[in-house]
Amino acid sequence: MKKFATAMLAGVAMSMTLASVADAKDKIVGVSWSNFQEERWKTDEAAIKAALEATGDKYISADAQSNPGKQLTDVESLIAQGANALIILAQDSSAIGPAVEKAVAEGIPVVGYDRLIENKDAFYLTFDNVEVGRMQAREVFKVKPEGNYVFIKGSGTDPNADFLFAGAMEVLKEAIDGGKIKNVGEAYTDGWLPANAQKNMEQFLTSNDNKVDAVVAANDGTAGGVVAALTAQGLAGSVPVSGQDADHAALNRIALGTQTVSVWKDSRALGKAAAEIASALADGTAMDAIPGTVKFSGGPNKVEMNSVFLAPVAITKDNLNVVIDAGWVDKATVCQGVAAGSVAACN
Ligand code: BGC
Repeated sequence: MKKFATAMLAGVAMSMTLASVADAKDKIVGVSWSNFQEERWKTDEAAIKAALEATGDKYISADAQSNPGKQLTDVESLIAQGANALIILAQDSSAIGPAVEKAVAEGIPVVGYDRLIENKDAFYLTFDNVEVGRMQAREVFKVKPEGNYVFIKGSGTDPNADFLFAGAMEVLKEAIDGGKIKNVGEAYTDGWLPANAQKNMEQFLTSNDNKVDAVVAANDGTAGGVVAALTAQGLAGSVPVSGQDADHAALNRIALGTQTVSVWKDSRALGKAAAEIASALADGTAMDAIPGTVKFSGGPNKVEMNSVFLAPVAITKDNLNVVIDAGWVDKATVCQGVAAGSVAACN
């Protein structure tokens, strides 16, 4: 399987006219999804599809259903189906390695989507995840500048979990070192599953006699699990909780006061960028010639990667209008059950 650009050159050599080369828009972009567990991934997918349609390229995909082994064969199958570029949302950043190496060896460009795949020959497209972690901690800290903190982290096989935690720790370090904030519980959430987050939160409540003052939860799914555990102890609404993704249910929890912040990452923009980058790389554009590319070497193995980072936005009760105005969610969904006059965006 050759890179599309190489195939095009071969086509020219075979005396295709330039006009017919320019007309050849039928590149195939293969997307390997880890799963569709969180609401956002269907939005990412719709954006990728729409952008590929706009450039005249073809979308093919596979869903690993949270199984890292399946994701390896998924990628092989996308290659076998003729993918000229791959976009990969890795379930397990290490396990996916051999599939990426195979693609690279065949000259097929790879975009590591949202989650880092540490291979210098892959492109890395994501939001600034350390900043997401800082935003989560900042908003929770504003509400509870001292007390017992619990950290419900993301999946241990997803490098984003550690980027988020590192960002949160940057913000809280001084208060922790000064003894104002105490870390009374910290756990990864296997598979990012809300049920696992709830279980971990229940254990931390029990081990601390319910004396938990604040929770930094890694995303809105885990925040949902945390809020369920707090609700069972009559603590929902008095303990600040973070999240990310601007899931519709989380935005409603923010309006209702049971969640403090969600970090909105407009996955419509990420999906569009991924499709455009994959298409450009398949055309032979060098990775460092992609507009906005910066060098990143903040991964666990310090591999230098060509990367593009989009900017996240913190959403609290005070700026819920931002996601409504952007057409991300409608007002009725955000404001369901909200007492009249309690939230500006719902008035
Ligand atoms: C993404 C989050 C998402 C989580 C679970 C992370 O890598 O950045 O947006 O909520 O995975 O899918």
